[in-house]
Amino acid sequence: MRWSVGIAWCAVGWSMTGCTLLPLGGWRNSEPAVRPSPLGHGLTELRAAFHVHCNLSHDSPGSIETIARAAKYLGIDTVILNDHYAWGNISRAPRGMQHGVLFLPGVELRAGKKGSILSFDVKEDFSNQLTPQERVREMSRQGAVSFLGHCEELEDWSLSPVQGFEVYNLHAEFTLKSKWSIAWRFLFLPPDCFFATSITTPTDNLHSYDRELGRGRRLAALAGHDAHANVRLFGPLGGTIGTYPEVLRLFSNHILVRDWSVEGVVEAVRAGRTFVVFDYLADGTGFAMSYGSLHGAPDERAILGDEVKHDPSAHLQVSVPETTDSTPRIRVIEGGREIAVVNAWRASLPLERPGVVRVEVYLGKRLWIVSSPIYITPSAPISSGA
Ligand SMILES: [Zn+2]
Repeated sequence: MRWSVGIAWCAVGWSMTGCTLLPLGGWRNSEPAVRPSPLGHGLTELRAAFHVHCNLSHDSPGSIETIARAAKYLGIDTVILNDHYAWGNISRAPRGMQHGVLFLPGVELRAGKKGSILSFDVKEDFSNQLTPQERVREMSRQGAVSFLGHCEELEDWSLSPVQGFEVYNLHAEFTLKSKWSIAWRFLFLPPDCFFATSITTPTDNLHSYDRELGRGRRLAALAGHDAHANVRLFGPLGGTIGTYPEVLRLFSNHILVRDWSVEGVVEAVRAGRTFVVFDYLADGTGFAMSYGSLHGAPDERAILGDEVKHDPSAHLQVSVPETTDSTPRIRVIEGGREIAVVNAWRASLPLERPGVVRVEVYLGKRLWIVSSPIYITPSAPISSGA
């Protein structure tokens, strides 16, 4: 009897302290989002995983069914695939509803020595011999959407045309950090805690994002899960870390669509109606950012992704869902410069001048929400002498 009690306590102790190998991760932390957006305009808010690899990639064993099951469990309704490319992949990739989840086929292509081009809604196979710039043009010819990816190491920023920017990539946390920092947390923390404590604010990426926006580019923000479910510590015996549920639960991309379909997602991302939520902190569904007259109806206000003329009497309004006990910190950023900080669930402020305006929301020191910008242009043409 004493032995059995001792063994039971040992098992409890082991499971309480870790390690990441124990199959105790991937817990649900958000509700499905497919719901009307508080921003109006007839928009629906989706929760999407982006930069997901399935078994069309040489380095991922994940079946579409496995990914769909994980996504559904976590309230993620849309999955954007970005598989490593091999001839034939595009015709084999799922496009549309699979097991109750919307899938968009896509590819991850090399952007030179470092960095990636992440394209989705790719329609047909293409030559693997193209240069990075030719690849981007080929994606554009096919009507696909392209993102600058792995921006923490990207070298060629001239690739064009692109419509988005991967502001965060989970994989980068493990390539840029000290191996010791990873090792001790891996050994002593359960998986969800291990991955949550791995996430840091992508400060350099956000600076690069502002720089590229400052060059006049229109770029939607998405965060890349870079999910492969391919790290098997004991080979065929198992011990997979970074399973789809463990990775997809950490954050999600909220896309405001007119229609929950491949075409609807593509239109919304091209229009810049996206924001990123780090769900491991709290559910951010319902975050809203708009610009316009204080007394105007929601449908009359400009929202993220929109271009609108500057109006000194108009207000930028930000609203954060009250899903945590701690008060959030809302940072308003214009042209890479912090122009306001508000510790509250809501912010309303006039803007002194036109500019590219986006918002970051923090809980304590941790980044919770990142929005795509609103593009506020001068109310009157600037004379050439100005
Ligand atoms: Zn990848």
